[in-house]
Amino acid sequence: MSMLDILEQIPIGFLEADATHLCDILQKPTLIHLEGRRKEPLFVSILLHGNEITGLHALQALLKKYEQQELPRSLSIFVGNIYAAEHGQRHLPDQPDYNRVWPGGEAPTSPETDMMQSVVNEMQQRNVFASIDVHNNTGINPHYACVNVLDDRFFHLATLFSRTVVYFTKPTGVQSSAFAKLCPAVTIECGKVGQQYADNHAMEFIDAALHLSEIPTHGFPEHDIDLFHTIAIVKVPIDASFSFDEKNTDICFDDDLDYMNFRELEKGTRMGRLCGSQSQRLEAWDNQGRDVGDDIFSYEHQEITIRKPVMPSMLTLNENVIRQDCLCYLMERYKIG
Ligand SMILES: [Zn+2]
Repeated sequence: MSMLDILEQIPIGFLEADATHLCDILQKPTLIHLEGRRKEPLFVSILLHGNEITGLHALQALLKKYEQQELPRSLSIFVGNIYAAEHGQRHLPDQPDYNRVWPGGEAPTSPETDMMQSVVNEMQQRNVFASIDVHNNTGINPHYACVNVLDDRFFHLATLFSRTVVYFTKPTGVQSSAFAKLCPAVTIECGKVGQQYADNHAMEFIDAALHLSEIPTHGFPEHDIDLFHTIAIVKVPIDASFSFDEKNTDICFDDDLDYMNFRELEKGTRMGRLCGSQSQRLEAWDNQGRDVGDDIFSYEHQEITIRKPVMPSMLTLNENVIRQDCLCYLMERYKIG
């Protein structure tokens, strides 16, 4: 039996529902097709991570705006992990991460990988126009868009949201990477949850994308974009204990780490110190799957410092996110053209 429901209208109660109560309105993860003036649909996915609710709020506001008027373009909405949303979690302990199971990824076949494949197939048949995947993060970060290919059409779409754009190829199995095979596709990172400004920003971006008659295929001006390339994912080893509050754990991070996001850190910048066994080391996995942690971090006198200039993103103080995802990503500036 399919994990996915497909609807052709907005379900009753959807526009008012709290993320924790979507399970009362939807039976399953649900793809909703709504018709608009231009036929090729804009695809928007929300709640791939159940605790990241800005996308739901943005779509609720957008659909209310169009209750009495025609959508400028058809809109297909995928409401993802409603089960985790009920509990305010990224994903439940027995579930895969819903943004690591899309076609092209390395996740083992599961009901979730089958579901994402059917969503992609369905949108391919409908000749999808562009794709937007809406996320939040937990540390202090600017709003930014992510792309998985270097292509002027993608830059045009991404910079409608923010001039800060991150290009990444790892992790795999993400929504925007699967849709990049079909149309311009971006992930938008809308900062922390619970900010009205973020809900409005995401809503205005989706509305702007709905109004595009086409996406220019060339000539993106370099001075209109701050483009960064993710070069490594930093993880805490599974068997290492860590904290932000000076408990006697293997790794004691400084408690203001997330202020470093999107800052160019100089050599010698401190991130914390080794306590406990003093033998644990941070992992930094590069795009070739090698651990280059020892090239990046130094542990002299038990102090964890940066060995060479880097720029982190998504540094977080949230211990669950660090365990389920990572401590941060490391980036470098990227020149286009
Ligand atoms: Zn997310």
